[in-house]
Amino acid sequence: MTPDLHAHSTASDGLLTPAALVARAASRGVDVIALTDHDDTLGLAAAGQAAAAAGIRFVPGVEISATWERHTVHVVGLHVDATDAVLTQGLMQVRAGRETRARHIGQALARVGIGGAYEGARELAGGDHLISRAHFARYLVAQGKASSTRDVFRSYLVPGKPGHVPHAWAPLVDAIAWIHAAGGQAVLAHPGRYAVTPTGMQRLLATFRDAGGDALEVISGTHTRTECETFAGHARSFGLLASTGSDFHGPDESPHDLGSLPALMPGTTPVWARW
Ligand code: AMP
Ligand code: MN
Ligand code: MN
Ligand code: MN
Repeated sequence: MTPDLHAHSTASDGLLTPAALVARAASRGVDVIALTDHDDTLGLAAAGQAAAAAGIRFVPGVEISATWERHTVHVVGLHVDATDAVLTQGLMQVRAGRETRARHIGQALARVGIGGAYEGARELAGGDHLISRAHFARYLVAQGKASSTRDVFRSYLVPGKPGHVPHAWAPLVDAIAWIHAAGGQAVLAHPGRYAVTPTGMQRLLATFRDAGGDALEVISGTHTRTECETFAGHARSFGLLASTGSDFHGPDESPHDLGSLPALMPGTTPVWARW
């Protein structure tokens, strides 16, 4: 089995349409693909159809933006029922907050002489899709304000930089509860990306597990080999299942393409053991 249980499409801040993403996954040897767009399930229907056409298994997912002790953390939901009212309502609230934050980011950038950033990001997001910082980053690159999205984050969008706007996302326990209401498994995404101390990580994992969280994303396209091993150990000691996902956003933007992840470590119990 070659699963990839974390990937983005144009329904959030990915660069490929849901159908193109799934087709790319299939062509690269992925046989179980989850679409996990930020805070929206808009792309799931088209992705599911594309997976059926390509003859691979599809897992409907979502990646919910959450707040835990002032940190932004992401919770992936796997096998969610996108029609569930609790999940739908929760995601709608998160997207409303996102829209307000996007306008504030536009105002903050205007104060340092970069005008039109909200409108530019809105245009890149397309239609009435949600706006992520990735859209701002792409717009600023296109405007020549930086040479890569990475540089835009470093210079403008992270705490301490002029375009950073602090934001309260869904409380972590709520994000887990919405996923469970929709019949899904809650996975703490890319734990290696959180700026927490080792004791902070222990507290985060304990809180996540005690709130009913199911799994830890042990293998991530954003993790080093050492981080994968560290989090395999944490999954074991906290009794969490282990998940794997590239967090693919697009061919030119993501360091790890679909179908190129290392295997899950022996000794961990994969999320799919419960499917
Ligand atoms: P948001 O949820 O709107 O705060 O945006 C977070 C998204 O921005 C992530 O899902 C990535 O797609 C992107 N992102 C975050 N940090 C970076 C970075 N350092 N370089 C490039 N993209 C990033
Ligand atoms: Mn993203
Ligand atoms: Mn994420
Ligand atoms: Mn992601």
